Amino acid sequence: MQQLSASLKAEGKTIGFVPTMGYLHDGHLSLIKTAHAGAQVVVVSIYVNPAQFGPSEDLSNYPRDIERDQLLCRENGVDIIFYPDDGQMYPDAYATYVDVEGLTQHLCGATRPGHFRGVTTIVNKLFNIVQPDCAVFGQKDGQQALVIKKMVKDLHIPVQIIIAPTIREKNGLALSSRNKYLTPKQRKEASVLYKALQLGEHLILDKGELKASVIIDEISKLFQNKPDFTIDYITIVDTLKVQPIEHLSGEIMLALAIYVGKARLIDNIIIQVPRDQIPEIH
Ligand code: AMP
Repeated sequence: MQQLSASLKAEGKTIGFVPTMGYLHDGHLSLIKTAHAGAQVVVVSIYVNPAQFGPSEDLSNYPRDIERDQLLCRENGVDIIFYPDDGQMYPDAYATYVDVEGLTQHLCGATRPGHFRGVTTIVNKLFNIVQPDCAVFGQKDGQQALVIKKMVKDLHIPVQIIIAPTIREKNGLALSSRNKYLTPKQRKEASVLYKALQLGEHLILDKGELKASVIIDEISKLFQNKPDFTIDYITIVDTLKVQPIEHLSGEIMLALAIYVGKARLIDNIIIQVPRDQIPEIH
């Protein structure tokens, strides 16, 4: 892959890169479309990265279907699929990891210790192998998007990061490979995740509610009396340091993670809250 990228670049071609864990859906395909718009050659990686799964998580059950993925890539004009195996990515005595501090402390970083260390390490490795000009990630994984942008900035990685919008089902449920774990009933009911985000946005922008604790309390009520749903977190953070905030101002991310049956689903929205007025000094 490294040699192939080097020769493409020697020919003056630009490379757009979409890292994925496979089991592709329309969310991934929209990232591929964005990559096509930004570069001449599109590379998709398919790799279920063990380093980003905790010991009790769904690594061995994670849905996989490489034949279907290949077909979808072909239909969507992907030029190259990079499909490495664990022995190539993490050979014996592998020892080097990348860690973004602070931004990985809360939200999924709190529930999934080590998750982002695995993500930033693999993305770094993939960037070094594929050498893309630009790489496309989804807003669906909002904290991941912020962490990767920070890593690229801090480490001076010469890759343009593009964040593409979340693709949803008609009922609002964000597409995810993990939706496969849901029963048809749970899938229908899981539209409540997006309704919760919309409620938060409504309270902030239409009702002028700027206290995070009040908003989170209201949103939490939507998950009461739903035996299949357990809240992992519902949190509002700033998009710079990804720290929970109580008084909302500027660009914020309302994010949630909810266990639905066997699945843990995440979703988020970014909201621009009018900045606090600075009183005029006479
Ligand atoms: P995954 O295969 O789940 O690791 O996701 C690979 C990339 O696709 C990540 O950048 C995700 O944020 C993005 N992605 C996953 N689901 C969606 C979605 N529903 N809409 C947009 N992007 C998504």
